Amino acid sequence: MNRELRKVVIAGNWKMNKNRAEAKELVNAMKDKVANAKCDVVVCVPFTDLETVLSAAQGSNIKVGAQNCHFEKSGAFTGEISADMLTEMGVEYVVIGHSERRQYFGETDETVNKRVLAALAAGLKVILCVGEMLADRENGITAELVALQTKIALRGVTAEQLKNVIIAYEPVWAIGTGKTATAQQANEVNALIRATVAQLYCQDCADALTIQYGGSMNAKNAAELLAQPDVDGGLIGGASLKADDFAVIVDAASK
Ligand code: PEP
Repeated sequence: MNRELRKVVIAGNWKMNKNRAEAKELVNAMKDKVANAKCDVVVCVPFTDLETVLSAAQGSNIKVGAQNCHFEKSGAFTGEISADMLTEMGVEYVVIGHSERRQYFGETDETVNKRVLAALAAGLKVILCVGEMLADRENGITAELVALQTKIALRGVTAEQLKNVIIAYEPVWAIGTGKTATAQQANEVNALIRATVAQLYCQDCADALTIQYGGSMNAKNAAELLAQPDVDGGLIGGASLKADDFAVIVDAASK
């Protein structure tokens, strides 16, 4: 983390977990535990929980995000939710391009780019996910692949809009597997993403960009990962479903 240059952000990705009653209980349990955080705290929840969580989080430092949005404003897109629908509710953040969306729902770098542009145009803050599959790492193409994902996802995003973007480096082989990237691996790819952004925009723009690590970050390994200079927070799946574990990660990011 480099607090002098950029914001540290810990975001929970609840995925398809928690009904409304459980969501309210979890946010209520988190509120006091993260109240003194010296980083931004976000929970990205299922669409059906947004209203409940927005209301439960009111008056606290917990910010609320969704896990996806469509690129069109409205129309015949059954099952989709537009960015404007989210902002109208008071949602502040949205995760775009999560590897589960790419793997199971046919998201491509191009549709990720369209969703990023739509979300930013609607005034949302974007948590943009990039990351390689295990085969990519084994084939030695992590750097090229992650740089390419970053470049395509940011196509058409202005330097001004970039201020509302967080990038989450999430190696796919580390998500939900319990296999975490080493702190060095995480820092190396985060630094590479920053260098890519510096090339696309400017060094100051890249220095100001929050780049998280995500992939089995938990209460035990968070401190080591977050101590890396280019790791500016975390996108947390499994461990964000337990208030105590999430709070330990927030504490580690507050040091
Ligand atoms: C995620 O869902 O973005 C994630 C990183 O999951 P987990 O922490 O469970 O690996």
